[in-house]
Amino acid sequence: MLIDKHGRKITYLRVSVTDRCNLRCFYCSSKDAIAWLPHEEILSYEELLEIVKVAISLGIEKIRLTGGEPLVRKDFVSLVAAISKIPGLRDLSLTTNGILLAEFAEDLKKAGLNRINISLDTLDPKKYKTICGYNKLGDVLRGIDKALEMGFSPVKINTVVMKGLNEDEILDLAKLTIERPVEVRFIEFMPVGDGAAWEEKYFMPVAEIKKRVEMLGPLVPAQKIGAGPARVYTLPNACGKIGFISAITEHFCDKCNRLRLTPEGKLRMCLFSDEEIDLKPYLRGNFSRKDLKEAFLKAIKNKPAKRSLSFSPHRIMRSIGG
Ligand code: SAM
Repeated sequence: MLIDKHGRKITYLRVSVTDRCNLRCFYCSSKDAIAWLPHEEILSYEELLEIVKVAISLGIEKIRLTGGEPLVRKDFVSLVAAISKIPGLRDLSLTTNGILLAEFAEDLKKAGLNRINISLDTLDPKKYKTICGYNKLGDVLRGIDKALEMGFSPVKINTVVMKGLNEDEILDLAKLTIERPVEVRFIEFMPVGDGAAWEEKYFMPVAEIKKRVEMLGPLVPAQKIGAGPARVYTLPNACGKIGFISAITEHFCDKCNRLRLTPEGKLRMCLFSDEEIDLKPYLRGNFSRKDLKEAFLKAIKNKPAKRSLSFSPHRIMRSIGG
C-alpha cells in the first residue's frame, strides 16, 4: 500500500502516453507553442508497462490513460490490452477528445478499457473551432454515441467553463444528461500551462456555474462512482448526471490520491508543482526493478501536502496529462 507522509493513500496513476494531439485547444497549447518531444525521448510501450506494473505492485489500483491525445499514438489499443491484464488493477480509464473514438471504441472495449471521459466545451461548431483549433465537433459527437453504444459506463463529458466563451452553453450541455446516460462535468478553468491563455476574465467559479444549471430544475445529489473530486447531481427526470469540479475555488488536496506520469517518464506528485522524478534512467540504465520501486516510493514521500497556485507550472497540459 502506498501511503504518503501526510497519511494519504495513493491509488491512482494518470499516465500521459503522448504529448502529441490532433487539436490545438487555446488553453492547452497555443499554435506557436508546438514542439513535440523527439520520439526517442518518449517511453516505449514496454517501458510504460514496466512502470505501470511496478506502480500496481506497490498499490496503485486505478490507471487513467491521457495525453496529449492518447488515440493518436500508434497501436494504442495494444497498450490498453496489455495494461488491462495486469493483476491487481481495478480500473482502467481513458481521457480523450473523442475525435477518433468512433473508430476505436469497439476495440478499446474488447481490449478491457472500463471507462471513458470525453472533453467537450461547446456544442457549436464555430465555437469548437475557436476553442480547439479545428472543426471536429461532428466527430466528437459520433464518438460519444459510439462509446454509449459499446456500453461504456459511465461516459463522462468534461467541460471547461470559460466566461465569455462557452458560459452561454452551460444549460445546453447540462441538458445532454436528460436523454443520455452521460455525466457532464463542469470544470473550473485552471491557470496551467505556458500558453498564458488563462486570464481572470475567463474564470467562472463552480458556485456560479451550479446556479446557472439550477435554472433547469433542482439538483438532487447523486450517488458517485469512484472517489474523484467531482460533486455529482441529477436533474429531475434526467437519465444522466451532472458533476462540478472546483479545482480552484475549493481544493481537494487532503483527499488527493493521484500521481502523474509524463510521456518521457517523469513522475509528478502534483499537477500544480513542477517537482518531478525522472524514471527513464531506471529503465534505460543498469538498474533493477527494485531500484525503480525505490524511486517510486521516494516520489510518494515528496508529494506536497497542498498545491500551490502562486505560480503556473511550466509544462503545458498535453505534456502533463490533464
Ligand atoms: N486529449 C485528451 C482530451 O482532450 O481529453 C486528453 C488530454 S487534455 C489535456 C485533458 C483535459 O484537460 C481536457 O478535458 C481539457 O479540457 C483539460 N484542460 C486542459 N487545460 C485546462 C485548463 N487550463 N483548465 C482546465 N482544464 C484543462
